[in-house]
Amino acid sequence: AVDEALARAWIAAAAEAVRAEAEHLTDLDAAIGDGDHGVNLRRGFDAVTAALGTYTADSAGDVLGKTGTTLLSKVGGASGPLYGTVFRALGKTLRQGGTFTEGLQAALDGVRRLGKAEVGDKTMVDALAPAVAAYAAAVADGEEIATRAAAEAAQTGAASTVPLQARKGRASYLGERSVGHPDPGATSTALILEALADVTA
Ligand code: ADP
Ligand code: MG
Ligand code: MG
Repeated sequence: AVDEALARAWIAAAAEAVRAEAEHLTDLDAAIGDGDHGVNLRRGFDAVTAALGTYTADSAGDVLGKTGTTLLSKVGGASGPLYGTVFRALGKTLRQGGTFTEGLQAALDGVRRLGKAEVGDKTMVDALAPAVAAYAAAVADGEEIATRAAAEAAQTGAASTVPLQARKGRASYLGERSVGHPDPGATSTALILEALADVTA
């Protein structure tokens, strides 16, 4: 199960990955947005690292909920509220006794409700939706296999955004010029789920 130690390890690994890839994410966003996605996420995860360092949690739900509220307050733009929703929904579901599968589903539902994007709109939903489905399909085989399946599905989903024209977010302002580039938020979603698979293995 995803316990408090695993949740903390996940967020620490995600923060490290975001720091390592911040420049790359910002370059991706410079191509089809305003060039701040990596900077936004790095600021957010640095704040999360600081907040969790002094936070006494009782559960994985607490850790992930705290991550969400911190991202919500520290990351501006579109991705702050969206990633805030992901982690708050995960945290809330786990605190209420739900499974990690249910938490991921709640995270996806929350992102869809807030951003109104569906698969194919060239957003983080293109990585998150297949990842949630892959996790649910593989969870009976164990956490390690399920998190790896989720990470791989997110990676494939992020790659699938390249030929798409953006229909949501800043990239949609570019119209056809958004075609040919990966979506930054789908790319960071794959990165964050890769971090989960790495700490679960
Ligand atoms: P901003 O676009 O405000 O500068 P970021 O650059 O941090 O914010 O994040 C951009 C990412 O947010 C996009 O690559 C996309 O994945 C995601 N995004 C933007 N709008 C939406 C939306 N309506 N629904 C889902 N994801 C979205
Ligand atoms: Mg941006
Ligand atoms: Mg911005």
